[in-house]
Amino acid sequence: MLDLISKNDFMPIEELRALQLGKLQKLVAYEYERVALFRRRCDEKGVKPRDIVTLKDIAKLPFMMKSDLRDEYPLGLTASPMKDIVRFHCSSGTTGKPICIPNTKGDIEVWSEAVARCLAMYGITEDDVLQVTYGYGLFTGGLGLHYGGEKRGCAVLPIGGGNTEKQLMLMRDLGVTAIACTPSYFLRIMDVARQQGIDFRRDTKLKHGIFGAEPWTDEMREKIQDITGIKAHDIYGLTEISGPGVAGSCGKSNGLHIWEDHYYPEIIDPETLEPLPDGEEGELVFTTLDRFGTPMVRYRTRDLTRLYPEMCACGRTSRVMARIKARSDDMLIIHGVNLFPSQVEAALLSVPEVEPHYQIVITPTDTLDILEIKVEIKHEAFSDNVREVEALRKRVFDAVKNITGLGAKITLVEPLSLPRSEGKIKRVIDNRV
Ligand code: ADP
Ligand code: ZN
Repeated sequence: MLDLISKNDFMPIEELRALQLGKLQKLVAYEYERVALFRRRCDEKGVKPRDIVTLKDIAKLPFMMKSDLRDEYPLGLTASPMKDIVRFHCSSGTTGKPICIPNTKGDIEVWSEAVARCLAMYGITEDDVLQVTYGYGLFTGGLGLHYGGEKRGCAVLPIGGGNTEKQLMLMRDLGVTAIACTPSYFLRIMDVARQQGIDFRRDTKLKHGIFGAEPWTDEMREKIQDITGIKAHDIYGLTEISGPGVAGSCGKSNGLHIWEDHYYPEIIDPETLEPLPDGEEGELVFTTLDRFGTPMVRYRTRDLTRLYPEMCACGRTSRVMARIKARSDDMLIIHGVNLFPSQVEAALLSVPEVEPHYQIVITPTDTLDILEIKVEIKHEAFSDNVREVEALRKRVFDAVKNITGLGAKITLVEPLSLPRSEGKIKRVIDNRV
């Protein structure tokens, strides 16, 4: 029997589109009535809620951006009275001043269901023990996975980030089978496990890793799976649209299903702002169809991806987006060449003698900017032999050059010498800004 949590995953396409249109019309009318900024922008464009007759008409509506949330801070985009608000979240502020998102009880309910649907898709059941190491508090990671995990019926361990030795102790003592964290924090957990002689296959019951909140490459996923034997799943989301669980990976394709009955996706050209057809890469835009505390209409995420034009082999009808390789504002321009940190990660992970711990440092000079990549050498590969080290440096240089087209200064550093993270990691130090 189909799990009730997952029933909408397989809704026939026509039914899904009709459901989305009905919700969109209701949402636009609601937002127009209650949020002054939205009403003003619609009026400027000469568009009224009644002009939304088909889903394509969404393109007539104005966009919303993070700067709107900052300008209207704290409650200018709130559409519900305070009596209906049950919780605030704020973005973690990776890129500037935080923004504030009030949620209603219904918003939390829909979001928990979205997370529970991801968990069900990963194969997680009420028999699983879920360790949530995402931060609890204003950040959506902890509470998002917590409520979603409970909704799925898991036994949730709400440990939050940090204290890695204790994480490993409880993981073993309580028979944890699934862990939710940033991929960079899981690397840290893997380090400490190795130092303590813990082998994930032999000493733990861990089967699932639920990784998100920051970009991570296919190469990183393979590495984690190889070393630990767990299945590494991707979970995506952002505070403005609710939090983690907007989309998740099913394992049949290399992308993530978006729960389209709640979150309507579009891809736009970030320059012209025109909608792009499925298959083309651009900026991901969401309209929240079931949120009423802080609804978002055509919210520009700044995340770059594409929607697969074909149906997924798993049979779910919701569209699949390619894994997020970067935010548009993560892109570095070096010597006139566009560089994404994920390209560096993919290059480094193709060299077996180095660890997936790296840092990208850009230093301006009077002439060309210097791109330096610091990467840790594996313990086993550590050597005093200058020729061997030089040969390894050359291999890393070539791997980076191959993928990025850039000649970087490669600095090989000792194992465990680069900073680790308990949440989102900062891998780029750009001294030009
Ligand atoms: P902040 O914008 O302050 O970092 P959030 O915690 O809301 O606040 O972060 C959401 C952002 O994190 C997304 O827009 C995206 O850039 C990134 N992100 C979240 N999940 C993933 C994922 N699975 N893969 C890649 N990036 C992700
Ligand atoms: Zn699928």
